Amino acid sequence: MPRLRFGLQIRLILGFAAVLALSMAAAAVCTGFAAHSEVSRIQVEQDRVRAGRIHAALADYYDNNGGWHGAQDFVNRTGFQSEREIVVLDADGNVVADNRPIRRRHDDRGHRALFNPGIPRGPLPPSEYFVPISSGDQQVGSVAIAAGRRGHPEYIFPDSHPDEPHDLEPPLTQFTERVTKTLILAGLVAGVVGILLVLLFSRRMLGSIGNLTSAARRLGGGDLSSRATVRGNDEVAELGHAFNNMADALENSERQRRTMVADVAHELRTPLANIQGHVEAMQDGLMQPNADNLSAVHQQTLHLNHLVSDLRLLAETEASELSLEMEPTSIEDVVSDAVASFRPRADAASVQLTTVIDDTLPVVEVDRYRIRQALGNLLDNAIRHTPSGGNVTVSAQRHDAGVRIEVADTGPGISPEDLPHVFDRLYRVDPSRDRSTGGSGLGLTITRQLVEAHGGAVWAESEVGSGSRFGFDLPARHPSAS
Ligand code: ADP
Repeated sequence: MPRLRFGLQIRLILGFAAVLALSMAAAAVCTGFAAHSEVSRIQVEQDRVRAGRIHAALADYYDNNGGWHGAQDFVNRTGFQSEREIVVLDADGNVVADNRPIRRRHDDRGHRALFNPGIPRGPLPPSEYFVPISSGDQQVGSVAIAAGRRGHPEYIFPDSHPDEPHDLEPPLTQFTERVTKTLILAGLVAGVVGILLVLLFSRRMLGSIGNLTSAARRLGGGDLSSRATVRGNDEVAELGHAFNNMADALENSERQRRTMVADVAHELRTPLANIQGHVEAMQDGLMQPNADNLSAVHQQTLHLNHLVSDLRLLAETEASELSLEMEPTSIEDVVSDAVASFRPRADAASVQLTTVIDDTLPVVEVDRYRIRQALGNLLDNAIRHTPSGGNVTVSAQRHDAGVRIEVADTGPGISPEDLPHVFDRLYRVDPSRDRSTGGSGLGLTITRQLVEAHGGAVWAESEVGSGSRFGFDLPARHPSAS
């Protein structure tokens, strides 16, 4: 079977990959967004709490020292510990402490100046960033606190209740909790998105399978004309084609079975009617049960017997129940044997029976008895159809690695319209004549079945007025034996 470009496997792989990628992307975007906003929120809160503590520590400093004397050292230390830029003004707005670095363009050494009080600072931060520091009821100064992030100050407003010691920094557990929650939510969203995508991808496929299932149900219910509608060229479509082929074969075999039953009934009726006619005539005293009349009845029973055993053999070969006893066989022996047994009939019919056998015939592995039977059917036909004074020639020759056996006669021949059908079951060229000469209409069908059971093939050639050639080719060994 040629590889399908967009087979089911590739579509499933692509579909699952797309669903997985989309779900992962959705989860990653949601989680990243949540983590980023949570980190910012925690940072802002941490900044405010820490700034609140610095603010409270400055108020304590003022209280403990009774003024801002030495505040620069305190601010340097505190600023160093907390990594903050701190500017403290007294009540009159004069700078009493400032640990800001000197910022120079293209120079990262500004960080070192952070702790160098001797170096003049830049302009003061805008007044709105200053938060008052109180001692008792009195305002004793103000402070501006900034985080020196990314080279420029970000001013922070201290927590509104800096004095409360239990004002703790927001715990990081909150972060993991929130991220976990978002991850679960993102997982759920991704799951729903995945389900929707799978539903979308599988809709067409399920439609085809549903169509196939209902066609199979109708077929199972006895509607042999039921067929699946096939769309596309994927594996499901392949399955649909295979189903339709199977349904064709089933319908065909059912039709053949019905024809066969009708044909067999017809074949049995003629001899049975003859026997019935003879027996009733004898019962009514219209016919004497003498030797001649009894012989006529006997002939009909023999014909019936022949017909029934042919039918049984045919049923066995068609059901592949025929067991073949394969053995290395000399075809020369088989041909000689068959010819010898038909010679009395040929002599009685004044038909010249000759044999031509190749010297270099290979030994073939066949069921000797069945091949003899297949050849016998051809010989029987040939002698039956050859008028007295005619010839029947049996020849055997090498063909590929196997053998070809042929029976040629000088009979009336078969018309081109009939020739393709002569191997069909119960087919007769001239029904009334063939029946009267004892033909069952099954001989050639049986020959074909027996030869095909050996892995061989039958053939026929004929010319009206000149004669016919029937034959079959056999492989050296049965193909399934290799
Ligand atoms: P039957 O047993 O009735 O002969 P077969 O299956 O052997 O049935 O043959 C099928 C038909 O082929 C027969 O009706 C017969 O007329 C025709 N036929 C077979 N062999 C020959 C032959 N050698 N020459 C002419 N007709 C033949």
